[in-house]
Amino acid sequence: MANIKLELVNLRKEFGDLVAVDDVSIAIEESETMALLGPSGCGKSTILNMIVGLEAPTSGDILIDGKSVLNVPPGDRNIGLVFQDYAVFTHMTVRSNLAYGLKVRKMKQPEIDREIAKVSEFLSITHQLDRKPDELGASELQRVAIGRTLVTNPEILLLDEPLSNLEAAMRNQMRRELRRIQADTGQTIIYVTHDQIEALSLAHRIAVMDFGALQQYDTAHNVYQYPANRFVGSFLGNPPMNFLKGKLAEDGGRRVVTSGDSTIPLPAGNLGSDVSAGADVVVGVRPESLSLAAADDPGRFSVPVLAVEPQGPETVVTASFGDSSLKVIVPTGDPAVERDSIDLVPVSDLVALFDAESGVRLLDSGDRR
Ligand code: ATP
Repeated sequence: MANIKLELVNLRKEFGDLVAVDDVSIAIEESETMALLGPSGCGKSTILNMIVGLEAPTSGDILIDGKSVLNVPPGDRNIGLVFQDYAVFTHMTVRSNLAYGLKVRKMKQPEIDREIAKVSEFLSITHQLDRKPDELGASELQRVAIGRTLVTNPEILLLDEPLSNLEAAMRNQMRRELRRIQADTGQTIIYVTHDQIEALSLAHRIAVMDFGALQQYDTAHNVYQYPANRFVGSFLGNPPMNFLKGKLAEDGGRRVVTSGDSTIPLPAGNLGSDVSAGADVVVGVRPESLSLAAADDPGRFSVPVLAVEPQGPETVVTASFGDSSLKVIVPTGDPAVERDSIDLVPVSDLVALFDAESGVRLLDSGDRR
């Protein structure tokens, strides 16, 4: 296992009665990108501020390279911070902006010139070095902001919603750029976002937060395919995960969930010992994790069709499962869809089972990576 670069240990922050960060523990490996993901108000900025040193934790610890930094002033933590509003000095040229952090560190001019040349080439802003920020577009400004930080060679790069002020096309381009920066520099990166697509496309590991509490910390693959609870399942994915209410049952030695006339088979796996047949449960299954079943498919189940909406090459079929509705994406024009009901089959083991009340995952199954 690689070295742990940053570790949050039972990190907690209270503002009066409000618990903004609720005993969060996360270890981030060197050269890894970790995305802190969650809805507005879940505690992302508070965690960030504690890592940087702008906010003191109520309890818990923050370790960089195994040493507590709680008593290290913000300026000495060697953490590079890039915000969404590209904090660049508007009265200075791009070159002076890039030089700023190095001058503060009393680096000699020839060395500053060398570092600026390296970073500006890396970020494709060499031709803009003598321009002022007001002559630059949004994505160029963000490159300058990233450059200003990268040039100081931080231990950890913190990116706080860095792409949220960019238009969609620019966001995609900057995402590619960030992936390249990450691969070429081996920087340890913490990426704060409420955008699940950004987290899934950039991060090795994702920490999903809600109401100050860590809901799941795992690889992007596992967080998406094996959500630890219903919140994580619902927060990631578009179109969203289907949630099918029903009761746990057994059918011919196989675990199933039933509701009304509908029955869906569950994958094999360990079920919590206190869960038994008849329990109220919720099945979580993504639209792309179901496909049309062949006639002899042993895992097939049938559901009544409510609506069929062709969308170019794919068609979204809305069906019902007891009282719940179920969306599935199928190839347009498949004759199996031109009927009142369709036969579906889960793709591999990507069917999650949650407790109906707590929303916690019950069935431990799958190919985790
Ligand atoms: P956003 O994406 O909107 O910035 P966030 O996930 O970063 O949200 P935080 O800003 O960390 O969330 O806020 C977490 C909770 O703590 C919120 O309920 C917020 O209102 C509260 N909070 C944050 N800072 C303070 C403060 N200085 N005093 C009191 N409450 C605060």
